[in-house]
Amino acid sequence: MTEEASAVHCDQHGESLATYVCGHLCRHPLQRWFCDMPEPDYRHPDAWCASCHAEMLKEGGWNDHNEECLDLQIICHHCYEASKSRSVESLEGPDKEAWVTAVAHGHQALQEKQRALEADYGLSHFERWDHDASAGTLTFSDGGVARVVADIEFIGSVSEASGTWLWAWANFHHQAQVVARIPAVWEWGEARGFLHLTVPLWKGDATDGWELSGVAAEVLGACGVYRVPTASGFLYMALMSVQRVG
Ligand SMILES: [Zn+2]
Ligand SMILES: [Zn+2]
Repeated sequence: MTEEASAVHCDQHGESLATYVCGHLCRHPLQRWFCDMPEPDYRHPDAWCASCHAEMLKEGGWNDHNEECLDLQIICHHCYEASKSRSVESLEGPDKEAWVTAVAHGHQALQEKQRALEADYGLSHFERWDHDASAGTLTFSDGGVARVVADIEFIGSVSEASGTWLWAWANFHHQAQVVARIPAVWEWGEARGFLHLTVPLWKGDATDGWELSGVAAEVLGACGVYRVPTASGFLYMALMSVQRVG
């Protein structure tokens, strides 16, 4: 609908990018944000609330008739990110119960996957691992010889410095090879109203990282998850397939 190009002055953040949200989200950000998945050249997609979304669905899109209800507002991109980030806290009712169930299911499934991987490949016993984002692989080796290679997909990362979780589909520093499949998790979450799967960045820790990884591994059909340390926390990757080499 709108192009994210113009600048806006925010009293709190100074010169920022202009983003567009409906008036209802602007005044009450603690609710579900309906918007597209962010993309490299459209990082702050236009967002609207549930009632605006219902209006849009009635007409099958935005047009001159239903755009009025949006009461579109321009907000600074820092304010947009901060408000959207907090919106995960608004998950409640049946959607929240379903989410808690999905997390528990993913957690249990991941434990079984990790046990099977360890039994079959003994991943914890190798001298070293190396991941190659341009090849999309994680290689385990002993004595300089590669023994096991996994096809990987990045799930997301935790920053202990900022106390946040960031989905890999919203991290535009990643190479395309390792984030081609993760948008399926956003789509799965969007269809179910699972805000923790669709909000790019929110307050989260290493435990959240494992819980989200369990759900993501189920959605992606991954055979396990591997977590590696980063400069500020951890990166979680799905092991899509694993094979012995050498
Ligand atoms: Zn609205
Ligand atoms: Zn601002």
